[in-house]
Amino acid sequence: MVNTQRLVDDFLALCRINSPPKQEAKVIAAVIARLQRLGLEVRQDDAGKHIGGNGNNVIARLPANVRGAPSIFFSAHFDTVEPNPDVQIIVEDDLIRTDGSSILGADDKAGLAPLLEAMECIVENNLPHGEIWLLLSVAEEIGLLGAKHLPLQDVNATMGFVLDTGPPVGKVVVGAPTHDHLTVRVIGRAAHAGAAPEQGISAIVAASRAIARMKLGRIDEETTANIGSFHGGQATNVVCPEVEIRAEARSHNTEKLETQLAHMIACFREEAEAMGAQVEVETSRHYEAYRLSEDAPVVQIARESARALALPYEAKLAGGGSDANVYNAKGIPTVVLSTGMDKVHTHDECCRISDLEKTARWVLEIVRRAAGA
Ligand code: ZN
Ligand code: CA
Repeated sequence: MVNTQRLVDDFLALCRINSPPKQEAKVIAAVIARLQRLGLEVRQDDAGKHIGGNGNNVIARLPANVRGAPSIFFSAHFDTVEPNPDVQIIVEDDLIRTDGSSILGADDKAGLAPLLEAMECIVENNLPHGEIWLLLSVAEEIGLLGAKHLPLQDVNATMGFVLDTGPPVGKVVVGAPTHDHLTVRVIGRAAHAGAAPEQGISAIVAASRAIARMKLGRIDEETTANIGSFHGGQATNVVCPEVEIRAEARSHNTEKLETQLAHMIACFREEAEAMGAQVEVETSRHYEAYRLSEDAPVVQIARESARALALPYEAKLAGGGSDANVYNAKGIPTVVLSTGMDKVHTHDECCRISDLEKTARWVLEIVRRAAGA
């Protein structure tokens, strides 16, 4: 039923449309035209205005042709990690990649293309289905910005499937961590490094002492922490008066995350205080954790559909967030389905044609099962 040629053509066409975060307008227009041709109800929200982008989230709906089936949504994101204005794509047998000079954009066009193909198959074969929503987001890669603005209250789905992780197709992400950002400014006192060093308080030294005794990296099986940047200082002849450190911590257990963050802040405060320096701290929550059980309906349907197609089902916990964190936090149980996107965020990014096909078939099987057909 899946039309491989059409699917591959769609995937290549989508990859050829440059769509870095906040510059998704062209790919959005192409996808909207396609969905309208298929007869879906398509609307956009106003996310672009809020986040400073040239495109909005797209919310499309295919009304049910089976009564009583649960309403479900599928989701993918339009943006790619970096611009690829003239991506050179190479197709070698089953493998699609670039010439190595840019990303491919399979993250997340390997989610988008199979979704379009599945909608084609449903419409052209008049397959039985409940209400289906497509939530296609902007600016996922720079902080899930689109999904955070998407008016999910208008979408009455009971479960969701985000197509946005790597192979093997059949893998399902059922949980992801909470992720917090930490910005710390350590403020010491400037002084001439040669004439009067004893009058200075080195922010670099205070911050370095704090970081040196901090627990970082993998804290335990569900918690990680990292210092990402350390900026400050101008000249060798000045005792450095101020540094800014940007850090993060993540955990599948929000209590453990809060303990780790408190530990990091305490290290800065104690070492600064010992030297007479000041500390300013800002924390912000990037996204909330979720964890779905094996018997959650959304996990059951994903699992049984994968098994029906002999895909290697495996429930996984992610180390990072996706739009699914936002949709779960807004109240709709949502898993992440694996697609063909491989080596994402690198110039070796690639995608297998067979994985595009498997992803489209998996979506169709999920639709079929959800409809009780
Ligand atoms: Zn992605
Ligand atoms: Ca990504």
